[in-house]
Amino acid sequence: MSDRPASPGFQHAELEWDENGVPQSRQYGDVYFSRSCGVDETRHVFLEPNALAQRFAALAPGRSLVIGETGFGTGLNFLCAWQLFERTAPADARLHFISVEKHPLTRDDLSRALSLWPDLAPYSGALIEQYVAIHPGFQQFTLEGGRVTLTLLVGDATECLARLHARVDAWFLDGFAPAKNPQMWQPPLFAELARLSSPETTLATFTSAGVVRRALVEAGFAVRRVPGFGTKWEMLSGRFVDTSRVAFPPWYARPDPHQGARKALVIGAGLAGCASAASLAARGWQVTLLERHAAVAREGSGNPQGVLYLKLSAHGTALSQLIVSGFGYTRRLLERLTRGLEWDDCGVLQLAFDEKERTRQAKLATAFPGLLQPLDRTQAEALSGLDLPCGGLYYPSAGWVHPPALARQLANHPSIELLTHCEALQLQRHGDLWQARVGDRLLAEAPVVVLAGAADVARFEQSAWVPLKRIRGQITRLPVTERSAALRTVLCGEGYIAPAWRDEHTLGASFDFQQTGLEPSDAEHRSNLDMLAAISPDLYQRLQLDERPLAGLEGRVAFRCTSPDYLPIIGPLAEAEGFAETYAVLRKDARQIPEAACPWHKGLFVNTAHGSRGLITAPLSGELLAAWIDGDPLPLPREVAEACHPNRFLLRKAIRG
Ligand code: SAM
Repeated sequence: MSDRPASPGFQHAELEWDENGVPQSRQYGDVYFSRSCGVDETRHVFLEPNALAQRFAALAPGRSLVIGETGFGTGLNFLCAWQLFERTAPADARLHFISVEKHPLTRDDLSRALSLWPDLAPYSGALIEQYVAIHPGFQQFTLEGGRVTLTLLVGDATECLARLHARVDAWFLDGFAPAKNPQMWQPPLFAELARLSSPETTLATFTSAGVVRRALVEAGFAVRRVPGFGTKWEMLSGRFVDTSRVAFPPWYARPDPHQGARKALVIGAGLAGCASAASLAARGWQVTLLERHAAVAREGSGNPQGVLYLKLSAHGTALSQLIVSGFGYTRRLLERLTRGLEWDDCGVLQLAFDEKERTRQAKLATAFPGLLQPLDRTQAEALSGLDLPCGGLYYPSAGWVHPPALARQLANHPSIELLTHCEALQLQRHGDLWQARVGDRLLAEAPVVVLAGAADVARFEQSAWVPLKRIRGQITRLPVTERSAALRTVLCGEGYIAPAWRDEHTLGASFDFQQTGLEPSDAEHRSNLDMLAAISPDLYQRLQLDERPLAGLEGRVAFRCTSPDYLPIIGPLAEAEGFAETYAVLRKDARQIPEAACPWHKGLFVNTAHGSRGLITAPLSGELLAAWIDGDPLPLPREVAEACHPNRFLLRKAIRG
């Protein structure tokens, strides 16, 4: 895979290599690790002072240790921590490593740097395999079947950490020497470290600079000087001793962590349900996945080809951030599927089909240059293999996916039991358990339930208030012709068409708010064909569509499920009436932050409303949901997680009255 060009807010690391293959940064004029032995340095400076071997060994079943780092660099510290974790932690413990990096290495440079450490090859190989789609913002990696999670925050350390919602157990402060990188080692950074720490939090750093020591003390850490590595006389190690905590508004605070058996019931086995089940199973939960059809992904996630379509905004909206992070996570999962058979990174071309779209694309071209490239008409034609009416934006690492293959891969875990032909109609609380029932018949029960059945989430009494809309969508399946086989990329205009797969192109998809049936209609085939004619008259002709009667076309209908603000709904579920009563004061003063705890439906969670972007948002939504359930660091910036939180609707209602 080739490296992508850098964006303005995201320049790749520029490296120089010495005669021993040790990298040095041109931007900062400093080395990534000691020229004598980077691994020994990592152990001495970061692993030992944080007492990681002992703390890993003492982890209780199902628990994780969270390490935070400034400066991911070559990932050497991460890999050494992972190796130590593997050697010392109990089998059912987890490691969560959060690292922030302003100038990520390219994949080639990362491989070259890590080839210095053959002992780490099993770990570095796994990291390099997944080191794709590294774009600005939060990028989540699931490694070793979920036993190890890496959350890479791509951007400036202080800015990224300010948006993190996590409790860090041990800090590695490693961002080049303060004299060479003074911009990073500033009081706002230390304030964020303190905000993310608790009284058990430890830290270590290679530097003993007075400015760092004083700033750490000022921020609430007790710090001491200890012998440094190699020729370095001293370094610092410390512990957080402040106890003041920043409070969250109660409606976005985490519900009390789940105690007792780690068993969950997920209702609905589309992409959102399979992703929720996968992320919970990876965290050691036993999951029962209930599905009314004979297999996973039979409704909205059941089309033959779905498109990795990134509808971004140049203004860094919550949706846009979610899309960039979600795309990265999905792309890393796809690396584990068979390219060409189950998905293909053939690229996606979004055509600039009218003036409004041209203006929108022009803004995006400068906002996300690492992710997309503007193409003129000639370039677009050369890439797609066809005549086109215009150029557009090209997303080289996007493409199409067979969504059921992704859903199956997510649900394929020994701790997930799939129960098919099971349609839950009611939810009832029974002691500490939720029971999924059909009248008197009990289907399954568990202390934690995730509702992931698209618009049917609102069929249960407890979640009837969740505002959801169904939008019918029909795709048209077009048999490939000798001349249509030339199409090499996904083309998007008002609709989309994908390169041939199993002798068919998928053309989609209509939007219909009124109809509720599942039968394909000729009218919607017609509107799909009209969209195709606007995308490429050449392709329309190559498919010989003028010669085909509409009635002979095959299609498939499914329902997208969306929310009023078009963001998905992911998180814990509150009781609507209780919420309105508890926070009635917000109607008089919306800025008040009452202390009263949110009246949660204990153990009830929701993951739905992914609209037509489920391929991009659903896999990561499983990680977000599991993080809310398990008290893990959130894989998205706080404001994005809150923008997707179910309580946003109850809050708006409480304020408006
Ligand atoms: N821990 C790394 C390893 O294991 O290879 C070595 C880190 S290297 C000494 C310092 C890293 O900090 C560089 O990759 C650099 O790009 C990053 N960095 C410097 N200033 C930063 C900032 N303000 N925000 C985020 N990362 C920064």
